[in-house]
Amino acid sequence: MNVSAADEFVATLNAWSRSGNDALLIRALRSPYSRVPHDTAAAYATLAERAGPLLDAIFASRLALPADERDVVLRFAERVKSLGEDSDIRALFEIAEPPRIKEDPAELRLGHAVDADTQTGVRARQGHFSASSLNAYADCARKWYYRYVCSAVEDPGSSASTYGTAFHAALEDFHGEYPHPEPQHEPAMRVRIVGDVNWAFERYRADFDTAVEVELHKRRAQRTAQRYIDWIVAESKRAPFTVFGREASTELDLAGFPFVGYIDRLDRDDATGAVSIFDYKTGSIATSAAEYIDDVRKFADFQLPFYYWARTAAGDRVTKLALIPLKDALLDVRPVALEVVPVATPQAKRSSSPTGTIGIADLERARSRMIEICRELTSGQRTSFPVASDPEACTFCAYKNSCRDRPLSEREKFGR
Ligand code: SF4
Repeated sequence: MNVSAADEFVATLNAWSRSGNDALLIRALRSPYSRVPHDTAAAYATLAERAGPLLDAIFASRLALPADERDVVLRFAERVKSLGEDSDIRALFEIAEPPRIKEDPAELRLGHAVDADTQTGVRARQGHFSASSLNAYADCARKWYYRYVCSAVEDPGSSASTYGTAFHAALEDFHGEYPHPEPQHEPAMRVRIVGDVNWAFERYRADFDTAVEVELHKRRAQRTAQRYIDWIVAESKRAPFTVFGREASTELDLAGFPFVGYIDRLDRDDATGAVSIFDYKTGSIATSAAEYIDDVRKFADFQLPFYYWARTAAGDRVTKLALIPLKDALLDVRPVALEVVPVATPQAKRSSSPTGTIGIADLERARSRMIEICRELTSGQRTSFPVASDPEACTFCAYKNSCRDRPLSEREKFGR
């Protein structure tokens, strides 16, 4: 932890105590100086961004956490609540003062080199896992190490991630009003979603860098939202459904490893009672069912398998898993949808169809691999975390500047 990060933490809390802006408090919570474990801070940040003031969520213990983590979060909340105009934030959070350098250069002497530390294994400090933490590990083990062990760099997010957060919030509000979309409601739904998108982007306005960005992203979301209505109207004609879960908090115990997550949307088919799980995607995703199944089989993506096992354990009969692409306003919303079947129908790897089948055996293999990874990460045996082999993985990585061994793209190699 460096001095500037501590200064930033203090400045953020000072700004929060003057303005009461929850976004600032969330930023402070995610700083290593809050002492709140990274995963827990991220989960509370997501909850607060979607459901209201952070302190209320913490004091109401809205997340089920192990006792020691709950105590740390409550301590953070009590400390910030006690902040007044003259509070010494460094003392309150027990942040050491930066060492003073003596002004007389003659007093500076070179010391003896210390012996290198003995290399020991690293153990995951996570109280619970998530599909996204395992996806990060599958993407790049070094990235997982930076994010979940070191918590060294705060990921400030980007306008693309704020676009995603705001769009998710708009759809959550929309389906609160329209849990049972019907074709005759189409005009009203089109009007309603315009209001939901506007309101969601107002709520997250402060997280964009500029007013122009807010406007451009909002316009893109408005166009995409109308395409989303096209799709749900067509779906409601084909097979009426009821949305019974929005940003549904989900927990699962896998061989003693606790997992948590949020499911964007859960539908029940009105005729059969079968459950479909939907994940909204505002970034780049697999463009075909074959591509997504390949990711699951390569253990590169655990999101939908995790949701499948979590909802199955909760008693649902899950028959469909789908990713809903919401990135491109120029394209129709065409989900990548997998029907869950006992044995998957063979599908050509190059097939561009957005629909396909996934076998229970594939989902079981994904579950076994999740358990294996958790064992690896908690064994304390791992002494190294290799970098990604594909430079693509580094494009938006928050740890790029600290990652000396990262693979270089052809352009970077040429530039050296
Ligand atoms: S910069 Fe690349 S190699 Fe380094 S941690 Fe990030 S993704 Fe991994």
